[in-house]
Amino acid sequence: MIQSLFDQDTEVNDTTLNIIAHMPTTSLHTLVSDDFCTKLSDADFMRIAVLLAKKSYDEGGCPIGAVIVNNESNKIVGKGHNTLVQESHPYNHGETSAIRDAGRIDFSKTTLYTSLSPCDVCATLLYMRGFKRVVVGDVTNANGNESLLEEKGLQVDILEDQLGVRQYGEFRLQKPEQDLEDWQGIAALK
Ligand SMILES: [Zn+2]
Repeated sequence: MIQSLFDQDTEVNDTTLNIIAHMPTTSLHTLVSDDFCTKLSDADFMRIAVLLAKKSYDEGGCPIGAVIVNNESNKIVGKGHNTLVQESHPYNHGETSAIRDAGRIDFSKTTLYTSLSPCDVCATLLYMRGFKRVVVGDVTNANGNESLLEEKGLQVDILEDQLGVRQYGEFRLQKPEQDLEDWQGIAALK
């Protein structure tokens, strides 16, 4: 039997979580054993979203990432990051990227972890696609749709990741126009 590289004895740290962030979701089962998955906490999944955000920033993009996890198996079923710059994509945010990666699954059985508070479009998509739980990793740099999501019946948990909060704040200072374009389009820059 071929063993997974990450098993129950593997330490959960930024190195292992960063490898998971960079690995294609469909190949994760070759890297990660079932019992390694069960060791991962909400904060660990949020850190993976933040490391996806860092990956995007390193590519010249906006540092926002998201991860979708099956509530029963604790396995990652989708993940992604903003590709405004990388794909010249006006609305592929962290959340839409992760949802597209997950594909045609029942999102009510999953939790979505986003490194930044969702925009209006993503918040709408979350309730329209039946999500029941969202974990938000940064309400310092953006916020406002948490109450809308709660009104729509979702459980919203705030779990700020300080690395992610600092990372987004620095990006906004460095590239204010890119930040504004991501939220409101080129029209907002005039
Ligand atoms: Zn969005």
